[in-house]
Amino acid sequence: MLTAIVGINWGDEGKGRMVDLLSRDEDVVVRYQGGNNAGHTVVNHLGKFVLNLLPSGILREEVVCVMGSGMVIDVEHLSREVKKLTDAGVKITPENLKISDKAHICMPYHVMLDRMEEARLKDKKFGSTGRGISPVYGDKYMKKGIRMGDLLHPAYLKERLETVVPFKSMNVEKIYGGEKITAGAMYEWLKTYGMPFTPYICDVSSYLDAALTEGKRVMLEAQLGALRDIDFGIYPFTSSSSTIAGYGPVGAGIPGRKIDLTVGIMKAYSSCVGEGPFTVEMDGREAHDLREAGGEYGAATGRPRRVGAFDAVASRYGVRMQGADCLALTKMDVLSYMDRVPVCTAYLVNGKTVTDFPTGEDLNSAEPVIEYLPGWKCDVSSARSFDDLPEAARNYVLTLEKLVGCPIRYVSVGPEREAYIERY
Ligand code: GDP
Repeated sequence: MLTAIVGINWGDEGKGRMVDLLSRDEDVVVRYQGGNNAGHTVVNHLGKFVLNLLPSGILREEVVCVMGSGMVIDVEHLSREVKKLTDAGVKITPENLKISDKAHICMPYHVMLDRMEEARLKDKKFGSTGRGISPVYGDKYMKKGIRMGDLLHPAYLKERLETVVPFKSMNVEKIYGGEKITAGAMYEWLKTYGMPFTPYICDVSSYLDAALTEGKRVMLEAQLGALRDIDFGIYPFTSSSSTIAGYGPVGAGIPGRKIDLTVGIMKAYSSCVGEGPFTVEMDGREAHDLREAGGEYGAATGRPRRVGAFDAVASRYGVRMQGADCLALTKMDVLSYMDRVPVCTAYLVNGKTVTDFPTGEDLNSAEPVIEYLPGWKCDVSSARSFDDLPEAARNYVLTLEKLVGCPIRYVSVGPEREAYIERY
């Protein structure tokens, strides 16, 4: 059984929290794209953890976690993440963590190039997290990447570095006026931070294929949301990887496998980190109140997130792009303070009402059509069944379900593992 857990919006929907919950029934959890540019926050009995690279399933001892071939891995960051977790008592061994030999390594020069380019762009910057993600994916497609599997063959790795690093150094020096980078220094960095992971590196493809053939349950965990997908998101303000479920089996390493169930994670309101069109954006007091109520600060960077009303136009598009079979609506409890809850039901583009998510200039100029639903004005965080919710809150869930055209199976009412409602 292959399940995908994916984001319907701009990311930060609470995927980590839902993967942590739903992985209770899983044997294997796989991250299939992205790097340490976003963070999944999981709260459980051991504490609060921000996971940037490790699959959220790592917090369940019986689950095997896989970092798939579609990922880009900063091994120095991974070392720190593993240490933090093991210090807190989480078990991480080659038995419960497997790293694809085909995943690309995010090198120090990728981080450097990312930051230098953002600085060059000044007020035209993309709002990159500066973690090297777009340069490392760029190199992957230019076939100048260094892969995790290269660490298993030091002589070959040295040869690769001798070919690739002078090219990268030319970029750093000649375009941005930075310092020379040497293959030797990069080898030393890989020896320090990458080599300790060699026992974890394997052909995850055959491992996953065998697991599925044996009837095991495998979950694909996405990072970011549909609107950040490199092809179908708000390009160029997207991430550099494919965030959609359709890419899941490819990025995991099992391209021939079909997904049996796709669960879309959709937030009860909107948030967006960085630059780019965000039609429902609130400002002033309204934004401040929602940001504070939802704790909307980046898990990876601490940046305040832009916030807005639930966007039915963007979410319906997200549901379609993800091919979601059902949804988990998160952070319902955050809206409890509102007298009336805003919902964007359509966009106005050049004076016309549209309900299909536009692209390009149409999206840049779109204005939201906002309708208001009655607020529930009470704490819903202890609700454990749909009937525990007040009528206005139930009405909100049912309205969103109708607007996006997909059943809402779970409603999350708090960050804790048990703070949720399963409707069917
Ligand atoms: P992700 O990247 O999609 O995993 O999302 P983030 O981890 O960036 O953001 C989700 C944040 O919301 C985390 O701090 C979670 O602990 C928290 N969270 C998740 N679900 C809920 C919920 O239903 N209610 C509240 N109040 N917080 C939640």
